[in-house]
Amino acid sequence: MKALKISKSPDDAIKDLLSSLFEKQKIKGVFSLCYDQDYFYGFVTDKNLLNKLTPTAPVMPANGGKMLSRLTMLEPIQTPIVVVLRPCELRALYELVKLEQANIENLIFISFICPGVLSLKEIKGNIEEKVANVNQKQGLRECCRFCENFVPENADLILPIIDGENNNKTTIFIKTERGEELLQGIENNLVEEDFDSATLSSIREERTRYKEKTWQNIKTENFGIPGLIDIFGRCINCHACGRACPICYCNLCYFDSASNDTGPRVYEEELERRGALRLPSGTIFYHIGRMIHISLSCVGCGMCSDVCPISIPVGTVFTKIAEATQGLFNYVPGRDLEEKIPISTFKIKEFDELGEA
Ligand code: SF4
Ligand code: SF4
Ligand code: SF4
Repeated sequence: MKALKISKSPDDAIKDLLSSLFEKQKIKGVFSLCYDQDYFYGFVTDKNLLNKLTPTAPVMPANGGKMLSRLTMLEPIQTPIVVVLRPCELRALYELVKLEQANIENLIFISFICPGVLSLKEIKGNIEEKVANVNQKQGLRECCRFCENFVPENADLILPIIDGENNNKTTIFIKTERGEELLQGIENNLVEEDFDSATLSSIREERTRYKEKTWQNIKTENFGIPGLIDIFGRCINCHACGRACPICYCNLCYFDSASNDTGPRVYEEELERRGALRLPSGTIFYHIGRMIHISLSCVGCGMCSDVCPISIPVGTVFTKIAEATQGLFNYVPGRDLEEKIPISTFKIKEFDELGEA
């Protein structure tokens, strides 16, 4: 693979590159993580504001794929912009394109081999020390600790943040022709290099071990209502997990709609039938509904766990169920735009064994 070596930190290398691209009028804007009093996703079109960018800081204030869906759902961005996203955000964006909720025309992607992000609960006060310790896994999202899809598949340019590059040495790998075109006339000192596959394998093995250990404690086999109550019984029905999820794709969620309003008659009937009610009501129904909708496309970003006010490990549960569902269809969400989401296809003969049971 062709690669560009820059004697700067990854963030400075990206900002220098973007600055040159602006000067040469190759791009008109950038979508990236930024910092100004706090972290946020920014769409920046003024070159003088590039200093606000912190593209690789281990923070995900919202899933960037979902934010881009908001920007592009109605029509594509008209001029070329560079988008910097983590692998799970990029995969979420691809799923949203398939669901006709995002458009990637004119977007050029930079991504990086991802060490993970800090839990949002850690992002307060001075986080510099925590950011520096991210490779020691302190304060990382649980979903990141077992994420095996940390190498981006669909980016034009890729930085290997994870494999121990020091702060003043950055390699930018050129993955696509579009990436090569972007750098034409900007950088000539290209070398031939590849990812450090031994390091990537050892990280993947460590994460797989952590996943197996963590998932053992989440009993989703023979789940049933008692199992669901074990996990979601304390849910306060705030729906924050669904709002933060990039894949929760319904434009109007049934659970937030008037159709889901429950009048006294419904409560009376339930009380007549059972003699007691669990309140808030409908929490288990909400999670079953979400599982049905998102398990084929869940990208394991962990946003849902991170925003849960009572620390239910939503992402860990959903990711485990999603891996099983996706495995049945040999489907990897966000891998390939041409690969249809199995729920949108119909085969006359499929899962015959279920009918035989
Ligand atoms: S889930 Fe994976 S790709 Fe996403 S932030 Fe965590 S480690 Fe990175
Ligand atoms: S269910 Fe959770 S882990 Fe899966 S895509 Fe949605 S927010 Fe991310
Ligand atoms: S964020 Fe937590 S409390 Fe709120 S609906 Fe989701 S699981 Fe329930």
